[in-house]
Amino acid sequence: MGDFSLDQIYDLPLDLWVGGASVPASDGGRFDVLDPATGEVLTSVANGTVDDAMACVEAADAAAAGWAATSPRERAEVLRRAFELMTARADEIAHLISLENGKALPDARGETAYAAEFFRWYAEEAVRAAGTVMTAPSGANKIVVLHQPVGIAVLVTPWNFPAAMATRKIGPALAAGCTVVLKPASDTPLTALLMAQILADAGVPPGVVNVLPARRSGAVVSAMLHDPRVRKLSFTGSTEVGRVLLREAADQVVNCSMELGGNAPFLVLDDADLDAAVEGAMVAKMRNAGEACTAANRFYVHADVAEEFSRRLSERMSALVVGPGTDDATQVGPLVNDESAAKVDDLVRGAVSAGARVVVGGSRPDREGYYYEPTVLLDVPRGAEILGEEIFGPVAPIITFTDEADAIAMANDTEYGLVSYVYTRDLARGLRVSEALDAGMVGLNRGLVSDPAAPFGGTKQSGIGREGGHEGMLDYLESKYVAVEW
Ligand code: NAD
Repeated sequence: MGDFSLDQIYDLPLDLWVGGASVPASDGGRFDVLDPATGEVLTSVANGTVDDAMACVEAADAAAAGWAATSPRERAEVLRRAFELMTARADEIAHLISLENGKALPDARGETAYAAEFFRWYAEEAVRAAGTVMTAPSGANKIVVLHQPVGIAVLVTPWNFPAAMATRKIGPALAAGCTVVLKPASDTPLTALLMAQILADAGVPPGVVNVLPARRSGAVVSAMLHDPRVRKLSFTGSTEVGRVLLREAADQVVNCSMELGGNAPFLVLDDADLDAAVEGAMVAKMRNAGEACTAANRFYVHADVAEEFSRRLSERMSALVVGPGTDDATQVGPLVNDESAAKVDDLVRGAVSAGARVVVGGSRPDREGYYYEPTVLLDVPRGAEILGEEIFGPVAPIITFTDEADAIAMANDTEYGLVSYVYTRDLARGLRVSEALDAGMVGLNRGLVSDPAAPFGGTKQSGIGREGGHEGMLDYLESKYVAVEW
């Protein structure tokens, strides 16, 4: 862990962050945050109650009119300062992410830079919420369309990108002029609290950003969604919880953005550049040890190149250094908790009993912590459970195909539609296949799609709305149409 330990470097607010102050939970409750590399307790944070959730909404409401009235330039400059502070403190932030989430430091550094970029991008977008003016088709009047902040936003984030999933919501919300309550995942509340501190240092006024760590997620989020002052829910997490929250949001017809699960297919066509495909596969599969909604979950490889692709991928996977995320040499950290490691193991065992062959890996190493070996499975039968579920671990199941149309049909045969990957040397063919893939995003000869400047999001049960790009801020704005005669 080097010089970075929780006590030494972080003066973190470990209570709730409400109205610009760190306050204990109303019932004094706390919960532990664990180190996934050892299972030991790192520290504890306040466990927000329903009353605390209401206090957060109250604080967000008290700050709402003032924040909405600030000039776009002022909001832009606050966000720009937050980007600069995150960049200056990047090493600390990366270590904190690694400590509580377990991911290897290179992944944590990558996440920190990605997370900070959302503040820079939305600093630039804050001054570009352009409306429109046009003459009505009848010629009788003008149609003026303005954008206004949607109102108080509840932001609920997962543990797999504790910084980036928070900034991807806070950036556009603040740029749009909304105030927010962030409910971070209970496995990783520390990074969210550090973000609150950085935003306060950047000049975000009290009450504009509130952070509510809470173990009782269902109760606190439901209470907020039933408060008429809350007008927006932006959720990132599993499709299962997303469905529950869409139902909860229905009672007050709360505006919802949903970034849900994925089951990304990775297609290697017969004319693919195999060096590029293996490189892309490593990024698409192994970023965050496979704990990403964008993780390649199913590799469909043309029979002519399948053996060579599998051999090269297996070589790369078996050479990876597995260890505690905060060790400098580590390339693959532990999974976030015991349940995740057990689920990955069950999926691999299920695939093997259905007929898959383990080329490398295939089990939990015999050591403390929630590790799983980088694994490649060949001959995975169609219909195997592992192809229908988000694996969320370092496991690459390979399925061969001979017919392109069949590969596209298999790729689309899922309730998810977040991202797909395609490798081919023929760009026209690649674009044709990209069009046929039912996903919100496609990586064409590229294993990484996430970019703060691009609209991230899914089709089908992977979500509603987009985060990032120009579109990301529109999710926090209402269009107001004024019919004018002048
Ligand atoms: P999760 O759905 O279990 O939890 C997400 C968040 O919701 C957490 O803050 C959790 O505390 C909260 N939550 C859980 N139950 C709740 C309830 N009943 N009411 C209100 N809040 C509740 O997901 P996770 O395990 O933290 O994250 C992994 C999932 O997130 C995967 O499915 C992954 O694909 C998805 N994900 C999606 C994206 C995307 O952009 N599409 C990005 C990252 C992760």
